[in-house]
Parts: sequence; structure tokens; C-alpha cells
Amino acid sequence: MKAYRDLAPSPRIIMTPGPVEVDPRVLRAMSYPVLGQFDPEFTGLMNETMEMLRGVFQTANKWAYPVDGTSRSGIEAVLVSLIEPGDSVLVPIYGRFGYLLAEIARRCGAQVIVMEREWGGVFPQEEIIEGIMRHRPKLVALVHGETSTGRLQPLEGIGRACREQDVLLVVDAVATIGGVEVAVDAWEVDAVIGGTQKCLSIPAGLAPVTYNSRVETILLKRKRIERGLLMEDAEDIKGFVAIRSNYLDLSQLQDYWGPARLNHHTEATTMLYALREGLRLTLEEGLVNRFARHALHESALVAGLLGMGLELFGDPSCKMPMVTCVRIPPGVDGESVRTMLLEHFGLEIASSFGPLKGRIWRIGTMGYSCSKRNVLLALGALEAALLRHGVSLPPGEALQAAMDVYAIGSG
Ligand SMILES: *Cc1c(COP(=O)(O)O)cnc(C)c1O
Repeated sequence: MKAYRDLAPSPRIIMTPGPVEVDPRVLRAMSYPVLGQFDPEFTGLMNETMEMLRGVFQTANKWAYPVDGTSRSGIEAVLVSLIEPGDSVLVPIYGRFGYLLAEIARRCGAQVIVMEREWGGVFPQEEIIEGIMRHRPKLVALVHGETSTGRLQPLEGIGRACREQDVLLVVDAVATIGGVEVAVDAWEVDAVIGGTQKCLSIPAGLAPVTYNSRVETILLKRKRIERGLLMEDAEDIKGFVAIRSNYLDLSQLQDYWGPARLNHHTEATTMLYALREGLRLTLEEGLVNRFARHALHESALVAGLLGMGLELFGDPSCKMPMVTCVRIPPGVDGESVRTMLLEHFGLEIASSFGPLKGRIWRIGTMGYSCSKRNVLLALGALEAALLRHGVSLPPGEALQAAMDVYAIGSG
């Protein structure tokens, strides 16, 4: 047999918008023995994980649990479980992940109405509310933090408007959960999808979701159709159709996560250990402290980049704290700089998509990767790589500016 060498991934400094470095405590949690999925010890861990998810989502919702799969499995589960063919769905798009929401909604058979904004900005809330009044959709699907452009869409007023019009609001908070406020109940969001491999610093593979009773009511009606339980009070389920997925059917998933414990899929036990530990770390740090940490390292990074003479991309009034988009200086091959950072510094930053491809780099400061050490190393490495690429910049300024933010003394 061919001898394959031992697995030995290089230690990396990962400053992308995901996946990011994982806390050693999470990695350790993943090395524990597997438990059976109906073992009371394991179902106890499932319940604790649900409790902690409610804390992180800032919600009193009964349902808060992970869907097995990467974040988009959570998005797809929510949309396929809510959208019935022919439903109208409004998707305000201001970057790549907005297009993903629209695509998934279309695949679910929705009549999708899109509103578009040039990449680099977000929507004034009134504009989305106007769209809701004009189109009266069944559902609005919206990205909270658009990692492709580094923008954060304000939401506080949109949930209320949706509630008043009896419209459902679904929010992709994959990139923002654990890094910035996502106040599910206060903002009256009906269903929210979070991510693990971004600000929670857990490997990709689970998609935490939460939803309220407005969503659950629809799930239960569609379940009765699916089970052919049409006999009594059929009137209230008239017009509903069965959910067109088994794996992503939230009505079945909640029967598995809830007290009924009905068998569905085999829970990804090791990933659940990871999620539980990542949530425990998040709550131990405290949400407010965690948001402040993301804001602090963002300001040091931004001060450093500006100190180097670089320009940021996008409207600063709606910048995501955990993603910083930097314009690639004219004449510089962005990919060559990224390769130099990876090969010589073991440091990864991200390129970009669509209209921004080749024009900006995206630097993530998420979760465990969001640290003083990483910010200072990234600035030093980027400065060195840019000098090697012939960019004229004031040497040393970047680190000094960042060190000023950290108030690192000279003595
Ligand atoms: C990363 C990301 C996703 C997709 O997550 P996967 O885990 O790759 O499926 C969706 N939405 C946003 C805003 C993201 O940043």
C-alpha cells in the first residue's frame, strides 16, 4: 500500500471571514468519545446546547437548535420549511449572500421579488419597509452581515414592520452571531440562522437556527398535510402543502430535538460537543465583552491599515466590525500578495467575489482569530508583503497606529 504521511496541517493565522481559528478548548471537546444519540447523557448535552443557543440568540424562543450541515443547510431548512410553491418572497440584496437567499427561495418554488443595492452599502430601513408595503410578500429574507462586502444591515425597525403586516422575517446572521448584537426577540425576527465557523470559532458543520411560534404554527400545519392528517379541522390547513425535504424539514427536526425525541438523522455527536463548548466559551466571555473585543480589534486593524496609507472599501457608516474590506493598491496583484502572506507568514486573508474580485481584500477579525496578536502580525506581514510588491508606504506607521489604539507604551 502507498504510505500516506501523517496528517500535519500547518498552524495558520486565519484572518478571513470564515472559517477561522478554533479555540483549543473546542478542539479538545471534539476529541472525546462518541455517545449514542439517545443516551440520556447525550440528550442532556443537547438540551444544554439549546439553552445556551437561546442565550446567544437573545431569545425566549422554544426552538433553538442546530441543523446538521454548514450554515447554508440552516438557511435552506428555514426557507424550505416555510416557503410553499407560489409564495411571494421579498429579498433585499446588497451582496453575494443576498443572491444565495434569492436562489434558495426560488428553488423552493417562491415568486421572488428582489431589491438591489450597489455593493458597498446597505438599505435604509424605510426602503425595505416600503418594499414590504408595496409587495405584501409572505416572507422577507435578509442578510444581517454581508461578508462579501463587509456591510451590516440595520434591522431593528424591519421586524416590527413585518409583524404589523403579518409578514415573516427570516435573517441570515451567519457571520454576525457572537460578534455583534443579534437581538432576535427585541428586533422581532421570526427565524434566524447563525454560523459556527465565523464569530463562534467552531469548525463548519452545524447551522444553529432559532424560530418563534409564528413559524412553528406553519410547520405544524404542513406536517399534518405530510402525514395525511386531514380529518378533523381540515379547514385551517387548507391550501398548505407538505415540506419538500426530509433532511431539512424543521417540523421533523423539532420532534427530534424536543421531548418526543423522534428518530430523524443521526446527530453529529462530535460537532455537538464542539458547538456546546463554543457556546460555553461565548457565554463565559459574555456577549457584551465579546462584542467589545470585536470592536476593539477592528479599530486597531483599521488604524493600522489607514496608517499604511491603504483605503478601505464601502460605506463606513454600515461597516461590519468583524470584516474589513481593503482596496488593493493600483498595479498590485492581490493574489500574489495573499500567496506571500500564506507562504512566508502562515497568514491567510481573503480575496473577494463578483464585482469586487481583484479589487479588494477582506480581512476577518472573528472569534478566536480576533486578537491583538493576530492584528499586529497581520499588519506587519501585510506591510512587508506590500513593500516587496513595490508599493511605497510609510514603513512602521501601521504597527505604530495599531499600537496606539492598544495604548502599548514606549517604555
Ligand atoms: C459564510 C456565510 C454563509 C454560508 O455559510 P456556509 O457555512 O459556507 O454554508 C452564509 N451567509 C453568510 C452571511 C456568510 O457569511
